[in-house]
Amino acid sequence: MPRPWIGITTARSAPTGSRDRLAAMESYAQAIRLAGGIPIFITPMADEDAADELLLRLDGVVLSGGGDVDPARYHQAPGPRLDEVDERRDSFEFGLASRAIAGATPLLGICRGIQVVNVALGGSLIQDIPSQHPGALDHEQGASQPGQLSHRVAIEQRGQLAQIYGIGEAQVNSYHHQAVGDLAPGLVSTALAPDAVIEAVEFPEHPFAVAVQWHPERLLERPESQRLFEALVRAAAKG
Ligand code: MN
Repeated sequence: MPRPWIGITTARSAPTGSRDRLAAMESYAQAIRLAGGIPIFITPMADEDAADELLLRLDGVVLSGGGDVDPARYHQAPGPRLDEVDERRDSFEFGLASRAIAGATPLLGICRGIQVVNVALGGSLIQDIPSQHPGALDHEQGASQPGQLSHRVAIEQRGQLAQIYGIGEAQVNSYHHQAVGDLAPGLVSTALAPDAVIEAVEFPEHPFAVAVQWHPERLLERPESQRLFEALVRAAAKG
């Protein structure tokens, strides 16, 4: 049987902000290969039909990490800690996320990806955890070696994440200054950091729509991380 094709979104970046290069960590591709899928990096497209056409051919989607979502998408003014936003990437990923949810295409959101899923479905974000979430842990571990851990998460018993991880809590890495704020209608929170920051969400009325705030692709030596990608690829193979 041919391996499922898993699209992985990319960022447009350059040191000067000219956005003339695509950027993506190879570890996403490695994670998909190890799980038995074929990784396909996709560029953000301005064309409105692109997401529909891609989803006719892709068996699953990974929404990858990256910069901040434009707060106008969730009806907030930009705060002082907001990073540079990329309207084209937002627009493309919002289209891809909402269509994958509506069309039952398996979807895994990672870091920025959990934020895109939540906002695409009508939720909001905490624009800056350190300045807006009293008592917050340090969620920005900075440049570090793959495999480095930052904090634990408590995993809710309901949902697919608990089945995949097989344990009530996990140690995760953390490379984010934003987080899910108000949950979108239909999404449920399935993991919390000790400071109550939402670290995973799922869309229960869907074959596989899971998003996590950490980076499992940088923790592939951990079996539970491998199982998360395997669950995506398995769902994609059925579709
Ligand atoms: Mn975190």
